[in-house]
Amino acid sequence: MKEFAADPSHPRYDSLLNRYILEDAAEKGMLAGSALIAHGRGEAYDYLIGEQTIDCAMRATKHALNHLKNAEKPVISVNGNTTALAGEDLLKLASMLNCPIEVNIFYRTPKRMQVLLNHLEEIKQKYGLEVEILGESPDSRIPGLEGPRAKCCEDGIFSSDVILVPLEDGDRCEALVAMGKTVIVVDLNPLSRSAKMGSITIVDEITRVAKNLVSMFENLDENLDLPFDNDSNLRLALKHINESLIDLSSFID
Ligand code: ATP
Ligand code: MG
Repeated sequence: MKEFAADPSHPRYDSLLNRYILEDAAEKGMLAGSALIAHGRGEAYDYLIGEQTIDCAMRATKHALNHLKNAEKPVISVNGNTTALAGEDLLKLASMLNCPIEVNIFYRTPKRMQVLLNHLEEIKQKYGLEVEILGESPDSRIPGLEGPRAKCCEDGIFSSDVILVPLEDGDRCEALVAMGKTVIVVDLNPLSRSAKMGSITIVDEITRVAKNLVSMFENLDENLDLPFDNDSNLRLALKHINESLIDLSSFID
């Protein structure tokens, strides 16, 4: 893999770094064929959001952390893109929450699963973290879904009460909500089915969300117990995009 050459002063440095990380992850076999397309859809929305954590996303992140901290059985579910982009911070968060991480991918192949599990295991060793990593031997199913994408672990996703599922497909998100779980979605597209179905939707980029969650957890003084309504919060994200479109097009007469 070539070196990452962009200069931190580049205005789109973070975006270039994420592309580099995903290119590398694809070479290592961590991603499905459509992963870069999914990332591109996210990037388009991030452009409109201004590549920043907007106020309503921060409020949703605080609300999400409050639920994760007060959960009886929290779990963090990760796919290929999430593992590559935010594996380190999410493992740190799992260690702080004392909860498992479950690798749960839409297009499950034994080889991809193994590469993802190894990647997380390496991060765990590097930071000396005590986190249970699940996903290798699924022994349960998410009701209402067909085929391999229904597979999950009894001790992880299946029995959880609060689940953080970044970049999840709308269908699976809906099935998890139907199981009665509090489903925390991270999705840059406030119009996606996942964003609309989720119990708490964070309209923000996953690397920023993971960093925010870790630093909020470390800052114990923060009040996380704020009033929250997911539909109103989604409307605020759309309003922000709407206003930024007007701003971006202001040079047109
Ligand atoms: P849905 O199934 O919920 O209607 P979709 O089919 O449009 O959504 P998927 O391909 O299932 O989308 O999942 C990719 C989603 O993840 C997209 O909505 C995209 O905006 C979002 N996304 C991609 N990369 C990131 C990222 N780095 N951070 C946050 N969200 C992202
Ligand atoms: Mg989808």
